[in-house]
Amino acid sequence: SNKIIEVENLQTAFMAEKGELISVDEVTFHLEPGETIGIVGESGCGKSVTSLSIMRLLGKNGYIKNGSVKMNGKELNKLTEAEMRQVRGNQISMIFQEPMTSLNPVYTIGNQMMEGIKLHLKMSTKDASAYAFDMLKQVKIPRPEEVMNEYPHALSGGMRQRVMIAMALSCKPKLLIADEPTTALDVTIQAQILELMKELREESDTAIMLITHDLGVIAEMADKVLVMYAGQVVEEADVFTLFDEPRHPYTKGLIESIPHLEYEEHKRLYSIPGMVPTLQQMPKGCRFHTRCPYATEKCLHEKPPLSSINKGKIHKVRCWLVEEEEHLTKTKSIEEV
Ligand code: SF4
Ligand code: MG
Repeated sequence: SNKIIEVENLQTAFMAEKGELISVDEVTFHLEPGETIGIVGESGCGKSVTSLSIMRLLGKNGYIKNGSVKMNGKELNKLTEAEMRQVRGNQISMIFQEPMTSLNPVYTIGNQMMEGIKLHLKMSTKDASAYAFDMLKQVKIPRPEEVMNEYPHALSGGMRQRVMIAMALSCKPKLLIADEPTTALDVTIQAQILELMKELREESDTAIMLITHDLGVIAEMADKVLVMYAGQVVEEADVFTLFDEPRHPYTKGLIESIPHLEYEEHKRLYSIPGMVPTLQQMPKGCRFHTRCPYATEKCLHEKPPLSSINKGKIHKVRCWLVEEEEHLTKTKSIEEV
């Protein structure tokens, strides 16, 4: 198959004082070269833990409890830590919301870029320096020769994010994981960074896993989308279907709360009432029932499955209401015949 990454039934847990907490539950998706999946949801829904599970960067209390993560058909869970480090440097790169935390403040931009390049691409110092310079030019950093000698704190947030992207892409990863890559940036810079990611995606066919709470960013970048709530996928669809025919009440709530430009002064038109439940207090039945305007008795007690609702394309929803609606339309169309 042509799949860069295949995640199947991923379940990630953390060991806490009072026992095991499941943070990500039954997450499944795959990516082909050049494809972008958007993973959207409020914070605390398991988006970042999903990506850290793939990278195997869960810290000492976190572990993959079930499921599989394959890269080019190879199971990542079975690699040794040393092999995994190779994968992280060469095949998967990550960029985060706040590049300052991943840039080392005591090294110049040039030095830290060259360090990674020398390590992963086995280049000489001279070649690595030329390559780093080239990468800075590619991400459209003005005066790259000067920036090579700057320290991270001397750069603006947007410039730092460009440096991070240059570093992430310098090893030509097959998969780029971008976790809220533009959240800390103002709107203009955000648009430039997204544009840059698109260009680089086209040039190198990198698959992108884009994690964000911002559906505007999803609409701009993603081919397909997973909507996550409380550690689970509640809706999966291609980006057009998701915006045109959202079915899960949570997805609908997220779409309704997208700020519209013309209403910017009023900030949010709508926001979903209530909060994402904590892992310690996961609701029984449907995990969204505490915030759902359509919740019924059944929702309080029975877990809805993630069901396919469209035979022609991928569209999956985890909701009893949708199950019923689908059942109704099916019986109707049979009666009509
Ligand atoms: Fe709402 Fe029930 Fe659907 Fe959950 S299963 S989203 S509570 S209608
Ligand atoms: Mg996060």
